[in-house]
Amino acid sequence: MDKGLETATGERNKGTFFVLGIDAATWSVITPNLQKLQNLKRLIEVGKSKVVTLKEKPISASVWCGMFSGKLLEEHKHESYVVNGEIVKRGDIKVDFIWDILHAEGKVVKALNVPFVVPTFSFGVKNFKPIGFGLPTNEKEWNEELEGVTAKTKELIAEKPDVLISVYTLLDRIQHFHWGEDYVVEWYKRMDDKIGELIFDTGFLDENNKLIVISDHGFCSFGDAKVQTLPEEGQEGKLKGDHHEDAFLVTVNVDYEIQRPQDVFYAIKMEIK
Ligand SMILES: [Zn+2]
Repeated sequence: MDKGLETATGERNKGTFFVLGIDAATWSVITPNLQKLQNLKRLIEVGKSKVVTLKEKPISASVWCGMFSGKLLEEHKHESYVVNGEIVKRGDIKVDFIWDILHAEGKVVKALNVPFVVPTFSFGVKNFKPIGFGLPTNEKEWNEELEGVTAKTKELIAEKPDVLISVYTLLDRIQHFHWGEDYVVEWYKRMDDKIGELIFDTGFLDENNKLIVISDHGFCSFGDAKVQTLPEEGQEGKLKGDHHEDAFLVTVNVDYEIQRPQDVFYAIKMEIK
């Protein structure tokens, strides 16, 4: 037991364990642009950061599912948003997620916009509608998701739940269509501003709080990807980027060593008492 988490009265001030998911955030964009990404830079300075190289396929549905169930693809068996022409629903996936388990134990858990299914999945959250069915596809929808997830996440931080999980999906879509363009860096900058609002402007790190900022996979040029996750020629034109196995991770005040997405589940489970 960490004595630092005891208040003067002996009553435990548990704080919030916040997992901020940024679908497809990649070191290969972040590292060379850190001067423009001042909040990520600051976060990397105060926390512990690393490349998480996936041993599993870098498929968003599967990785997010594993991250919050603690299970490998062989165990949760959820690989794709659509199977045999049918959209896979939460109920089709036979696992308990961290929110199911902790909620049953009486903990307050909020999960917002988690993209292991489409539309994205939320838990314990009122008045939030996923943008673009959880697959925002144009600039208007990317803005809507950025603003909508930020505003709702701020509300949820203020409620001080035991666990808060919140995910942005837009960078994945932007990079599929615009990989290699300055446009991608512009969106990282916008995302960075929001990270500043959520993490620093709220004073989140001033309390006994824990933070993980993580992506489900990185990104690379379409032809360099080991696994092709979408057809090259889609409704929105030719794709320029695809998923890479190197994911992004920064943690603050989290002792559990995260070496794979599933470890996020175990970190929360071990460190929420
Ligand atoms: Zn993804």
